Order: sequence, then structure tokens, then C-alpha cells
Amino acid sequence: MRIPIIAGNWKMNKTIAEARELVGALRDELTRVAADGKVQIVLCPPFIALAEVAARVKETPIKVGAQNLFWEVKGAYTGEIAPPMLNEVCDYVIIGHSERRQYFGETDEGVNKKTRVALAHHLTPIVCVGENLQQNEAGQTAQIVGAQVRAAFTEIARDDARRCVIAYEPVWAIGTGKAASGAGANAVIGLTIRGALADLYDEATAQTIRVQYGGSVTPKNVAEFFAQPEIDGALVGGASLLAADFIAICQAARK
Ligand code: PEP
Repeated sequence: MRIPIIAGNWKMNKTIAEARELVGALRDELTRVAADGKVQIVLCPPFIALAEVAARVKETPIKVGAQNLFWEVKGAYTGEIAPPMLNEVCDYVIIGHSERRQYFGETDEGVNKKTRVALAHHLTPIVCVGENLQQNEAGQTAQIVGAQVRAAFTEIARDDARRCVIAYEPVWAIGTGKAASGAGANAVIGLTIRGALADLYDEATAQTIRVQYGGSVTPKNVAEFFAQPEIDGALVGGASLLAADFIAICQAARK
């Protein structure tokens, strides 16, 4: 039985003061939603607000995640954040988000290095994969997404892989208001992503790893995704910045 996981990716939004306000609006209701462990909720603010958000959800079941990390543990890497720094404030880390791949040159190899170092430092990676519009229209979704999964999990042992979360995020659906269909996302996750995991490991491992859908999830369309057997929650961008919307999405995960 895979427990659904909803993560809110705040991206480059919210100052510390604004983050305090948003977490204040979310905390009590999300605590109720997550109290019996039937759904896990993760808030992913910008680095600078991580400690503030973590302090405010400390006594609750709400978890905190970073949006990125570097694969070295310390040293002369100006501007980067190391895994032991994140250990102090959060449990999760988003890795390989399409915006990082698109704007910051992240490669499959880098995603693999980051995933391995996160696991070594007891962080739960949320590994993002997904095809862009051109690849989708060219019928290359399975090829692209399968290759991304295989690359991300290179030299990762089965027990470590089982600790990971994967987010299937078609790039054309992120921030566009054009979500994938529930059935379409379910097929990519069930056939391509779990298929690649079964090839890399075994069927039991493929069935254990949680795979979220991400891309223009809103309170209006979320039920369609959560009704799908292969989809274990959502990675939510824009709607995670609106307290009422994010609460509604998390509530829908219980149904
Ligand atoms: C995301 O940032 O991972 C995302 C899915 O964004 P949005 O929900 O805004 O499409």
C-alpha cells in the first residue's frame, strides 16, 4: 500500500515573512489532513525560508523539503547548498525539476549524483522526470522518460531506490494550465516509469516506489489524478502558493 504524498513546490516565491504567513495559513488544516498518516504532505519553500518553515511545522506531521542541492558535501562551490546543511532543516529534496534542467543546465548525470548524495545523507529525493512538448508530439514520451528514470537510478541500490519518490511532470503541463489527462499520466507512470524500475530492480520495487503526477494540478482537476491506480499524489507548483487551493488538493488525496 503506497501512501500518497503531496509536495508543494513554492519555486522562487515567498520572502521569509511571506513564507511565515503562508505556513501559518496552512498549518492547522494540513495537520488535521495528515494526522492519521494516510497522506504525507511536504512544503518546499526557497532555501532561505526553509528554517523558518521547518520551525513552524516542527510539532506537526507536515514535512519540509528543499528544491535543490549540490552533490558535494562541502567546499569551494559558491552559491551551492550541501546535503548536510539540508539535513538540519528538512527531510526531502526535489531533484532534477524541469526548470533546473531547462534554465540551469542540469543533466541526467547530475540528477543521478544529486540523488545518490541525498540518499547518503538521509534525505528523501523527489526525482523529477518528464518529456517536453516536442518530444511528446513526436511520440517519444516513453523513450525520454524511461531514459531519465534509468539515468537517475544508475548505481543506486534497491533498498535506497525504494526510499525515493518520483514525480512525473510533463514539461508542457508545468505552469501552463494544460494538465495531462489522468489516464495519460497513469499510463506513463504505470508502463514507462514502473516498467523501467522493474527492469532496473524487480517488480516488487517498481510497485513500492511512489510516483506523483505534477503539472497544472488544481483543486478542480486533482480528483482525476488521485483516482488513478498508478498515481501516488502530486507535486504542485502554482496552486501550492494559495492556501485554500493547496489544502483542497491535500484533502482530495484522502478520498
Ligand atoms: C511544478 O513546479 O513542479 C509544477 C508542477 O508546477 P505547476 O503546478 O504550477 O504546473
